[in-house]
Amino acid sequence: MIVILLGAPGSGKGTQSRILSAKYGFKHLATGDIFRSEIAAKTTLGLKAAEYVKSGKLVPDDTVTEMVAGKLEGAEKCLLDGFPRNLAQAHALAPLLSRQGEAIDLVIFMNLPKKEALKRLTSRRVCGSCGEVFNFISRPPKTEGKCDQCGGNLTQREDDTEATADKRLMVFEDLTRPLVVYYKAEQVFQEVDASQSLEEVTKNLCAVIDSSRALR
Ligand code: ADP
Ligand code: ZN
Repeated sequence: MIVILLGAPGSGKGTQSRILSAKYGFKHLATGDIFRSEIAAKTTLGLKAAEYVKSGKLVPDDTVTEMVAGKLEGAEKCLLDGFPRNLAQAHALAPLLSRQGEAIDLVIFMNLPKKEALKRLTSRRVCGSCGEVFNFISRPPKTEGKCDQCGGNLTQREDDTEATADKRLMVFEDLTRPLVVYYKAEQVFQEVDASQSLEEVTKNLCAVIDSSRALR
């Protein structure tokens, strides 16, 4: 089963993907996470992607698609988080799946108003040691600046500053939102209200996945 999660930055794709992957046994393919770890490890791919990620632009399509192609190989149950992000990537994805007898089963759009997305992004803090995500408005750590899980220091992602977060939301509107229309026409499309509580959103996502699995 191949599932795509679409949503603006801040809509909770990453958080929900981790929960859903654990529950259903999906391989979680998060292109943003992969880029961040490649950048931290200063690999060739990381060096190529760094400037784009830092400034909130999309990494060039051929670089992303090549990376995703490698990760998709042999994966039968996969949750795509952050890919495709524009029409060119969506067009590249279909043949990658069909060559291994797979197809997109479900596209879920996590809908969130832009203003709320910006608030969530700029108040997000991430643990530098274990990657746990906090939010100083909705999920503050017990001790300011410290991770509840491991005591590591909390920092702001370089692309979560107000100016860059705003840029990423613009990129979403211009390049990623057209995928909503595209996948609606392909009839594998469902929408979930991402402005509800984390638990409520999880519940709704599970309901959508369960009903799609029942159809298979
Ligand atoms: P968010 O969805 O919150 O913006 P991600 O962690 O998914 O965050 O992505 C962070 C950055 O990684 C993006 O702003 C972009 O630079 C890069 N990136 C991730 N996925 C893609 C993709 N499919 N195509 C191009 N760039 C990407
Ligand atoms: Zn931690």
